[in-house]
Amino acid sequence: MKVKIVPTALGEWKETYQVSIPELELPNDPHFKVVTAEIVYNQTDRRLLMDIQLSVKASTECYHCGEPMTFLIFPYLHLEFYRVENPNRDSGDDDIKFIGLLQTDIDLSQDLRDAIVLSLPMRITCCDEDRMEHILFSGD
Ligand SMILES: [Zn+2]
Repeated sequence: MKVKIVPTALGEWKETYQVSIPELELPNDPHFKVVTAEIVYNQTDRRLLMDIQLSVKASTECYHCGEPMTFLIFPYLHLEFYRVENPNRDSGDDDIKFIGLLQTDIDLSQDLRDAIVLSLPMRITCCDEDRMEHILFSGD
């Protein structure tokens, strides 16, 4: 998923996106249905911050009883970009990314995919009493 950021748009603003599932190249199981991203941007002269709240709906079969089920997860990520003359050099820090001084398109696919995959629970169940709090099952 690419976002468009005008370098001169300074300050804070918020956008909500429907993210294309094929674009994220997520695994086949669970089956991902909907991903939305609410992004709060904060841009100063050389720095661009993104606070990204994802809402992900996916379906799978319950690990315990095998019944089909739908679940939601809400991965969150914070990204920091710095505008530099040569954005291709390595920042030496995974949390800091470089973009060009006048760059408008930023591809977030890899970061969103990583955040989603990392927040997937190991075992997704509809019937486990002590299932993890962040899984809200729905009957679909
Ligand atoms: Zn179950």
